[in-house]
Amino acid sequence: MALADRNAIPREAIWIEPPPCRVAPSAYHFAVSPTAPLADLIAHARRAVVFTGAGISTESGIPDFRSPGGVWSRMRPIPFAEFVGSEEWRREAWRRAFSNSSGWVGAKPNAGHLAIARLVASGKVAAVITQNVDNLHVESGVPADRVIELHGNAGYATCLACGLRHELDTLRQSFLGRDEVPSCRECGGLVKTATISFGQPMPVQAMRRAEEETLAADLFIVLGSSLVVFPAAGFPRVAKENGARLAIVNREPTPLDAIADLVLHAEIGPLLAAAVPA
Ligand code: ZN
Repeated sequence: MALADRNAIPREAIWIEPPPCRVAPSAYHFAVSPTAPLADLIAHARRAVVFTGAGISTESGIPDFRSPGGVWSRMRPIPFAEFVGSEEWRREAWRRAFSNSSGWVGAKPNAGHLAIARLVASGKVAAVITQNVDNLHVESGVPADRVIELHGNAGYATCLACGLRHELDTLRQSFLGRDEVPSCRECGGLVKTATISFGQPMPVQAMRRAEEETLAADLFIVLGSSLVVFPAAGFPRVAKENGARLAIVNREPTPLDAIADLVLHAEIGPLLAAAVPA
């Protein structure tokens, strides 16, 4: 049965506040020396999937949008309908994109990204499903066809009408030089960074691939996601219900801690570097 049917997962990107976590985690819950149980789960997996969120990239200096001091505490996100409906909001969106207000320009992969790349290269991890738009998994050496970007990629733009790819450098010149809000050079349609905004339809192919990889996995490792942005956050639950082991590494508790086989509140880079030696 399709993922959307099973859990009534929304087809647009939305953010759901987590309920308070009242149930104690069912299995391991370590405060110290968490490496061994994670390494053990990885060693016993035949086909693992890694699922990443903002928490892995904060260790590369990219602030988490939703955290205190993050981008959205200074400026609210622009929903898709407002981008489409208003030239002024499109202008504001591009102003933000070209001022690097999100902080991802120039960020480099960290020890966590590099450890994931080793797991992919060794054949242990079949796919990396990510909520991040910073391209750091590809930059760390994971082949692009193994990275499933649920929320798109901030490194380029696409036409919302015909899908044509546009490079940011070209758009930046006409925006900053001639104050032109980007439009498609082929069809005149609206051009937007290739990210998924709230209220924007999820990318169909990425969602399908993420579902397939989730259902094929016997180990699902969440790294740095609070699991509150849907439909992305539905995948770990589907993996667990499908019989996979579920490991969650995140600074804060998540709504799925109670059903996970392993819950670690630890920094991702040092943990993975120890659990997946170079
Ligand atoms: Zn176009």
